[in-house]
Amino acid sequence: MPTLTVAGTPYDCAEQETVLDALSRHGVAVPNSCRKGACQSCLMRAMDGPVPTKAQAGLKETFVHEGYFLACQCQPDGDLTLASPDAASPFQQATVVFTEPLADTVQRVVLRPETPLRYRAGQFVNLRRPDGPIRSYSLASLPGSVPELEIHVKRLPGGAVSNWICDTLRSGDTVEIGLPTGTCFYLPAREPQNILLIGTGTGIAPLFGIARDALLAGHQGDIHLYHGSRTREGLYLHHPLRDMHAAHGNFHYHPCVSGRDVPDDCIAGRANDIALEDFGDLSGWRLFLCGLPDMVHATRKQAYLQGARLADIHADAFELAARDDASVKAPAAVSG
Ligand SMILES: Cc1cc2nc3c(=O)[nH]c(=O)nc-3n(C[C@H](O)[C@H](O)[C@H](O)COP(=O)(O)OP(=O)(O)OC[C@H]3O[C@@H](n4cnc5c(N)ncnc54)[C@H](O)[C@@H]3O)c2cc1C
Repeated sequence: MPTLTVAGTPYDCAEQETVLDALSRHGVAVPNSCRKGACQSCLMRAMDGPVPTKAQAGLKETFVHEGYFLACQCQPDGDLTLASPDAASPFQQATVVFTEPLADTVQRVVLRPETPLRYRAGQFVNLRRPDGPIRSYSLASLPGSVPELEIHVKRLPGGAVSNWICDTLRSGDTVEIGLPTGTCFYLPAREPQNILLIGTGTGIAPLFGIARDALLAGHQGDIHLYHGSRTREGLYLHHPLRDMHAAHGNFHYHPCVSGRDVPDDCIAGRANDIALEDFGDLSGWRLFLCGLPDMVHATRKQAYLQGARLADIHADAFELAARDDASVKAPAAVSG
């Protein structure tokens, strides 16, 4: 049975048990949210001992070399000496610059971190509510001259953090955010390459950043962006995306509505079905998929079957937090 040593104290870890489950069982607090390896809020660092490869999937190469791993994905093969859980993913204060509704159920929040952050368009940050629960939000902003970060938050019925953000956060309040993370971002290609971006709901937030980043970099090749929603109202970036479509010869915006009442300027059906049908052969394409986990997982599989290389498919499934974390009640905001 492996032993986990944290700050000099040994804890047993049962066979097949994850580091996150073992430490939680012993009362050691490890920040966490989705428990599926998506949000990376349970990042920890091994100072000594073997880290299973699976526990480092999706992490930056430098992090892998330095022994970082995801506690929720780590079933250790041997004893591990670990740095204290909070040391691996530092949080800092950010001030809410402003917040406004983008649609009935989507709130735009602009944050100014105390220390400007280096990030790539499309990455996400973990946001911690004052009493502890952590959720991930993708960045819709572009890194550059302004230090502000923009996130789009969908209000989920009964959702602990999204409702707190939409109902309670106001300009001047402060929140805690972690370092930008994730591998869903644009890198310039050496040769012209077509790009397909598919997002549902607030999955459009990171794609909006990625598409603008690619255009700014002078991307050679077509860029097709499909945004899907059940209603036209849910296509909350319709106008800026139509403007981008008009302004750039290689940028193509495809608004898709899957419910009834499909307006003339939208396509009827689900964004992923339509996009995959429009381009049968995806060999050589680069794909970005963000939003509903079922859509992201199914589309990744289908895109691979249609010829895309797995290494060319970048995806962020908006996984929910594990159930035991979802029931926390919302406190008041910290006023600034
Ligand atoms: C990488 C990443 C990026 C993300 N980016 C964004 C983004 O840009 N914008 C955005 O709006 N969201 C994003 N999310 C989702 C976000 O992190 C939160 O999960 C979301 O805001 C809901 O949090 P909540 O606390 O409001 O809801 P929760 O309190 O966590 O729960 C929401 C609802 O789902 C139910 N529920 C909870 N857990 C489960 C479960 N396991 N299975 C089924 N139902 C459950 C609850 O009862 C509740 O009704 C992202 C997630 C990830 C992992």
